[in-house]
Amino acid sequence: MQKYDLAIIGSGIGGALIAALNKDKNHILFEKDSNLGGCASTFKRFGNYYNAGATTFVGYEENHIIKDMFNKLNYVPDIFESKVAIRTIQNKKVVDRVRNFEEFLLQIQENYPNENNRIFWKKIKDIDEKFWQIKDIHFAKYSLKSYIKSLATFKDMIKVFKMDLFKSASSFIKEILGDITQEYQSFIDAQLLITVQSKSKDVSLLSMALGLSYPFHKVFYVNNGMGSIIEEILKEVNVHKNEEIIKIKKSKDYYVINSSKGEYQAKNIVLNTTVYDSKNLFDKKIKNYYEKFEFSDQSAFTTYLTIDSKKEFLEHYQIILKIDIPNCISNSFFISFSKLSDEKMSQNGYSVTISTHTKVSTWKVLSTEDYKKQKELTQNFILEHFLDYFDNISSEQITKIFSATSLTFQRFIGRENCGGRAINVKSALQIPSCRTPFKGLYNVGDTVFAGQGWPGVALGASILNKELNEKL
Ligand SMILES: Cc1cc2nc3c(=O)[nH]c(=O)nc-3n(C[C@H](O)[C@H](O)[C@H](O)COP(=O)(O)OP(=O)(O)OC[C@H]3O[C@@H](n4cnc5c(N)ncnc54)[C@H](O)[C@@H]3O)c2cc1C
Repeated sequence: MQKYDLAIIGSGIGGALIAALNKDKNHILFEKDSNLGGCASTFKRFGNYYNAGATTFVGYEENHIIKDMFNKLNYVPDIFESKVAIRTIQNKKVVDRVRNFEEFLLQIQENYPNENNRIFWKKIKDIDEKFWQIKDIHFAKYSLKSYIKSLATFKDMIKVFKMDLFKSASSFIKEILGDITQEYQSFIDAQLLITVQSKSKDVSLLSMALGLSYPFHKVFYVNNGMGSIIEEILKEVNVHKNEEIIKIKKSKDYYVINSSKGEYQAKNIVLNTTVYDSKNLFDKKIKNYYEKFEFSDQSAFTTYLTIDSKKEFLEHYQIILKIDIPNCISNSFFISFSKLSDEKMSQNGYSVTISTHTKVSTWKVLSTEDYKKQKELTQNFILEHFLDYFDNISSEQITKIFSATSLTFQRFIGRENCGGRAINVKSALQIPSCRTPFKGLYNVGDTVFAGQGWPGVALGASILNKELNEKL
């Protein structure tokens, strides 16, 4: 039986970062799918490439965790900074989320006038800047010492943010902006749904600030698809693709791992599976540990298009409608176009990924026939409103279209929940840390602190990597 010091299960952002940072150790990475990257992968279908989920890359800037990690790996990504991070369209209102604060504020004031817009957005930006200046963020819950170390992080945060940290986002909106129009509220919530998977009524001011400030950072387009970053950083890693881990058993000093192809031994295991799915890999005590995490029903509905056009488009748009999308929990959808200069993604026309939010339970209960019907209904609704806005694209130019629900994500990357867990005051106490109570067993990914997306998962991976370095 092959023996390893470190086995990583899954090549999502979290698993890939940990594997790359530990490639000089005696390691192995298992990935069930044929593509690397999970929600951040790029796949090929009908001869065309599509980004499965993630399309925007943020955090590659000085003093940011991702730049630090990539520097350590001697890796420079092939990326392009988007001048407009997102163009948001609501009825006739258009707001370009640009990095320049004054330019952005002018548009907000024009579209959603409020005498305190400057105070509101300045505070949002300030909180985000202060957050990313906090060094040495730690979060662990396995011993008294670890709680004390984590409390030190919270102490630093409280020192910086005072009670703002605990304030609800909605009460802050009301306090500064007063009673805002439904349209303005919908604009704020639609932006938050993309970045923190929640609306303002469900998050703290800190989460809202981090979510709304996303486009104040450099937002990048990734040439050759998001999955190419993962493939590049895993180049020197011992990767076993198309190999699913089925069962893991703990022995005294190591774990026995059973995959779809064989049996292995490892002293340490990093699970990049979600904390809701990890229970399926274990029996007894470890199974019980994972069973206690309450399932988050949130997921994604994605539509993929190939468009035969040579017209110029921005990289990202968000369209906010007056009504909710059928079978979804949102009235907005996020559109990402490939760049025409990207020869891999745009070889047969634009590759477009459209995403919105849905619930796992919506799809799970349907019969095969109803599932097909409802999926088509949602896809057609999105397509109709997409064509409504992009009147320079005709339906004949759409040469390919297909969609994914939570069931599709389950089939390919073993997770129904997509988009991770939003951090608010309540979930911060429930969300697990990277270390488990079991020696040599660790978690990484967007259902573990510090949450979803490149910045959140990378922050969690950096905390885990420090812990692993003490062990390996
Ligand atoms: C539609 C959508 C759009 C998004 N847009 C953005 C965006 O623009 N920018 C951004 O930064 N973030 C975005 N996100 C969030 C981001 O993609 C995720 O938070 C992040 O990619 C999750 O990484 P992870 O480490 O949790 O791994 P995951 O993506 O969950 O990957 C886990 C991997 O483990 C593998 N695996 C699972 N079980 C097993 C097993 N038993 N054996 C072997 N392998 C296994 C899976 O196949 C998968 O490859 C988006 C998410 C979605 C769903």
